[in-house]
Amino acid sequence: MNALALLLTALTAVQGQAVRLTVPAEPGLQSVTVEWSDRVKPLARDEDGWFTVIGVDLGAKPGQHAADLLYTYTDGRTTRATQQITVKSKEYPTTRLTVEPKYVELSAENQERTARERKEIGAVYWKITPQAYWTEPFEVPIPGITGGRNFGHRRVFNDQPRAPHSGADLTATTGTEIHASNRGRVVLAKNLFFSGNAVFIDHGLGVYTVYLHLSKILVEPGTMVERGAVVGLAGATGRVTGPHLHWGARIQNARVDPFSLIDWSL
Ligand SMILES: [Zn+2]
Repeated sequence: MNALALLLTALTAVQGQAVRLTVPAEPGLQSVTVEWSDRVKPLARDEDGWFTVIGVDLGAKPGQHAADLLYTYTDGRTTRATQQITVKSKEYPTTRLTVEPKYVELSAENQERTARERKEIGAVYWKITPQAYWTEPFEVPIPGITGGRNFGHRRVFNDQPRAPHSGADLTATTGTEIHASNRGRVVLAKNLFFSGNAVFIDHGLGVYTVYLHLSKILVEPGTMVERGAVVGLAGATGRVTGPHLHWGARIQNARVDPFSLIDWSL
């Protein structure tokens, strides 16, 4: 048995949580990859060793899930190890909301538009940039704010059940500056039907954060932004009941609570 495998203690996560995986540095170890949810991605190097982040989707089945690690050495040797992750279910409350009817009973034109945008967004989340753009901990996009712990809530819009809430709604008046949670590349910055004015940031290793319902977008797609950079101003565009910031996070397309990115000590 490989010595490294002994270091992998069982991890427990709840549905909708980001999980940081680490592997200690070892002489001759050239690369490490992890397979999770049928996707393979590399671990990145830092001063302590190797790390990556995987996401337990909000809808992940409770029970044991395996993250398969592959270690490749400079002499060509490879070894495998399995990181067991026990997923626990979490009960989320139901929120009932009233929005403009056009966001619940979609016109043919808007159905076409949302289908197109779903594809476009899916293509963004599908891409795994093979390095980490960030080197510092993730931050809440509105400094000093409390609350916004409504990730995962079941949603009923105008009496019709819809997908659970995939982000955290932070109270903000229109015009409040919204800061990038961490360093990354802006991959989408445009108006979307449900999300309104939206900014999507790729942080690398399949980690994305999104900032929705903005009154104003202040970044261009393709640009790198530093942690804390102002990417837009809060607003009430798209399917909303009033001004706020919807802050979301995805990891390899898994819907995770963005606060779970903050909760690690990096
Ligand atoms: Zn929201």
